[in-house]
Parts: sequence; structure tokens; C-alpha cells
Amino acid sequence: MRQVFFYMAFFLIYLSSGAQTSPKYALVIHGGAGVMSEKSMTSEIQNEYLRVLNKALQVGDSVLLHGGTCLDAVEKTIIILEDSPLFNAGKGAVFTHEGTIELDASVMDGKTLAAGAVSGIKDIRNPISLARTVMEKSEHVFLTGIGASQFAVEQGFKTVENSYFFTEKRYKSLQELLKKEREPATGDKHGTVGCVALDTFGNIAAGTSTGGMTNKKYGRVGDSPVIGAGTYANNQTGGFSCTGHGEFYIRLGFSRDISAMMEYRKMNIRKACRAEIDKLTKMGGTGGVIGLDRKGNIAMEFNTSGMFRGYIKSNGEKEVAIFK
Ligand code: ASP
Repeated sequence: MRQVFFYMAFFLIYLSSGAQTSPKYALVIHGGAGVMSEKSMTSEIQNEYLRVLNKALQVGDSVLLHGGTCLDAVEKTIIILEDSPLFNAGKGAVFTHEGTIELDASVMDGKTLAAGAVSGIKDIRNPISLARTVMEKSEHVFLTGIGASQFAVEQGFKTVENSYFFTEKRYKSLQELLKKEREPATGDKHGTVGCVALDTFGNIAAGTSTGGMTNKKYGRVGDSPVIGAGTYANNQTGGFSCTGHGEFYIRLGFSRDISAMMEYRKMNIRKACRAEIDKLTKMGGTGGVIGLDRKGNIAMEFNTSGMFRGYIKSNGEKEVAIFK
């Protein structure tokens, strides 16, 4: 009898120590991957990035802490990043060849596999909210351009002037590229934003928002609003949000491929994300991906010199980083 009591007490201590218990919720974000070095970024600029990344994590954390859903957490977190001029999403997005801003975004619900996406948005302040509204209030998955804006207005969204999104920094990037007349759509390779959240109900959602690539032409759309490329979520595997050279991500079916490796080959999330990044590298593409699974395990993989990134978990684990 004494022995039984001893084992029970031991088991209770083991459980309460948190060993093997998954966090109740978790949230991971990115603010774009690309060529960046500690030397090329002043400490003030680094601190400013870290400040906004921390703020975004706090906002998501507070939604999840108070029992909010993963979709609410993803949307509210991404809004912080869209509203910041630092990132290539919402205000501060990169310019098209014509000197306008065209935004893409998507969101996916890992419980139901419902998804919503928009592209070529010129007049809606927070494209991530519009993507969610497409998912929840329309019978479609993907709306583009003028039609998407018409839908937004019908749903009660206020429109903004395209100039609301303009920043001096991105305008200069376009001018530099136009002057060099390099490849049609490169430069300013970082700043897309994304978020994946696991809520206290065990559900996963993922979202991504971007201005695409500087100097893009002809209505070019990247991977960010393409479900299975830049964004994917499935409670059975995990949720993912990507950043990088979108054409490669579309061709790889990037995030859906990661989910498939986890589902069919039983790979863990970090290994699967790493394997997909290796495929990207072999094809000559650059970028990164963030993800989390239903146990709250986090992946933040990239093949560039840096990726703005961070995560937070209900057990107090937290990290924010820029460089490799
Ligand atoms: N993936 C985005 C696109 O190709 C750009 C980026 O993440 O930097 O549109």
C-alpha cells in the first residue's frame, strides 16, 4: 500500500512539473526573410523591429490567454504587422512597377480546412481581415482586384486611398530597381508577415499578408494568398505561413507539401519544414517558413541570412530573433 502511494505521489509530481505536457496554446510569427546582416542594420532599427514583433506576440498571446480562437489571434496579430510601416504588408508594402501598392493575403482554419484569400487589393487597410471575411461570409475561397474590393464594401469595410500604404523607404527601393533595370521582380526581399496559432481548444489557424515583390508587373500574384503554397493549416498536422520568392513556393506547393510529409511520412514539424526548405534551396529559391503543430512544437526555418520571427507559448517560452 505504501508503495502504491509512493508511486502515485511520484506520478503527480512528474505531471505537475510540466514534463510531457504540451502548452495550452502557442503562437508563432514572421515578418519576412531575406538578405540581412547585423552590420547593415543599425541597433535602433533592429530594436524597432524587435519592439513591433514583441507587440504582435503580446496581442496574439492575450487573445489566446483569454480563451479567444486561433483565427482571432492570427487576424489580430497580423493587423499589428500590417499597420506597422516596417513590414511589406499593409502600410509599408512594396511598390509595383507602376508605382502603386497591390496587397495579397490569406487565412486558413485547420479545424474545417475552410480558407479565404484576396489578391491585388488597393484600397482595404487590413487585407488579412478581408481574407477572413471571404472565408466566413462568402461561398468562395479566393477573390481578386476590384471584385474583392466590391465585396469588402458590401461587407462594411471602409476603403482607404492607395497612398495610405506608401512609405519613402519602399518608394526608394522601386526607384533603385527601375534605375538598375535588373530582373523584373526582385529586391526588397523581406517584410511579408505571417502568423500561426494553436488555441486552448486545440485548433490551429494560419495567415499571411504581403505587398508581394518590388517592381512586380502585369498583376503578378505570389504565394502568400495561394492556399497550400504560402499558407496552410490542418489540425491533423500543423499550420504554416511562408515568406520568400513566391514563384518557387507556388511551384513546390510549399506549405501543403510540408503538411503531407507530416501526414504520410510521420515527419515531425521541424524536420518537415527543413526538408521543404532544402527542396527550395535545390531549386534556387530563397525564403523561410514558420509553423506549429497541435502539441505547440514550433518551427522557424529559412535559407536566407535572416528572418524576422518570434513565438510565444502558454508555458512562458518565448523567443524573438532577426538573424540566423
Ligand atoms: N512571398 C512573397 C511573394 O512572393 C514575398 C515575400 O515573402 O517576401 O509575394
